Amino acid sequence: MKFITIDKKEWAKGIERSRETYQLFGPVKDKNGFFIKNLENGILPDMDYSSSVMSVKSVLFPQTERMLFTTLDESQEDHHIMKRAQTDTTPRAVIGIRPYDAKAIELVKLNFDTPEYRDPYWCDAYEATTFVGLGINRPGPFDFSTSAGSGPFCDDGLDVLLADMDDNYLAKVLTDKGEAFMAACTFDAIADEKESKALFDILQKQAEKNIASHVDTDKLKEKTLLELHEAPFWDDVAFSCINCGTCTFVCPTCWCFDIQDETKRKSSTRIRNWDTCMSPLFTRHATGHNPRDTKTQRVRQRFMHKLKYFLDKYDQGIMCVGCGRCVKSCPVNIDIRNVCNMMNAFEKQN
Ligand code: SF4
Ligand code: SF4
Repeated sequence: MKFITIDKKEWAKGIERSRETYQLFGPVKDKNGFFIKNLENGILPDMDYSSSVMSVKSVLFPQTERMLFTTLDESQEDHHIMKRAQTDTTPRAVIGIRPYDAKAIELVKLNFDTPEYRDPYWCDAYEATTFVGLGINRPGPFDFSTSAGSGPFCDDGLDVLLADMDDNYLAKVLTDKGEAFMAACTFDAIADEKESKALFDILQKQAEKNIASHVDTDKLKEKTLLELHEAPFWDDVAFSCINCGTCTFVCPTCWCFDIQDETKRKSSTRIRNWDTCMSPLFTRHATGHNPRDTKTQRVRQRFMHKLKYFLDKYDQGIMCVGCGRCVKSCPVNIDIRNVCNMMNAFEKQN
């Protein structure tokens, strides 16, 4: 690990230089807030932001992705044989992502890149990407990342972590990918390691002090799965839900998708689209049977997956990084912090 000081006056020039090697993504403001977008030539990441409406997940997992294609033209030798669609694997860098979003990618990786199965679309995009994070000096009111396995200066999943020091950025370079990105920007002013670590410590402590909300997760692992599943609070939790799916789309750790074949004249394409476990269509079988037919079943599934099934399966904490997006965006104020605390405190009455 090494530390580099970047004078903000040199920032724009360095980022522009990196375009020779990288496709760039970063926070950009539009009328609905900040989004992580492809940075066209001349557009710099807007680093003066608190949290993006959507996370970085679409850089690796687009809302709609072409997976396979074939021709139906029987005069072609390879008709009806599915071939993998070309995906863009040129090097890319996402600049200014928040630490909890990088941590979320590590959790998603547990599902997309397992010893038994590797999702080639997600993994290829992951391998092509360098993650340049930006520590959170002033966490927002919905941030509960410190109790959800992350934090405002957590460096899990990052290649570089930047700390905003007013006139400059202090960069903690964590991986070879991070080093290559800094070299492409020609950011090379090495900072003293001991002093830099101390500065990061100070910023981290200050930021963590400002996080007012948290979740209790310490007892979730020991709970009996079926007892939690049958707990009496699920109807109340689900009562006001309108199944809009917003909580899942904004969530950096939600990965559900649906696969469809689309045919146009003599060509056929297989695509996948983001989907949501909050919709009844997600689990409806071709027979018409739906194993999660009621709202309570779907809401319970979302929370059980994030806070119990994932924890039991991978033993890597909960499938939530405490970004607070779902709390902020839910139109009926369903709050994962309350649900998590209820699950953690639940004791079956005999
Ligand atoms: S469940 Fe909510 S708070 Fe947790 S990572 Fe997803 S959007 Fe963020
Ligand atoms: S955002 Fe709220 S209302 Fe919409 S599906 Fe999620 S919990 Fe239900």
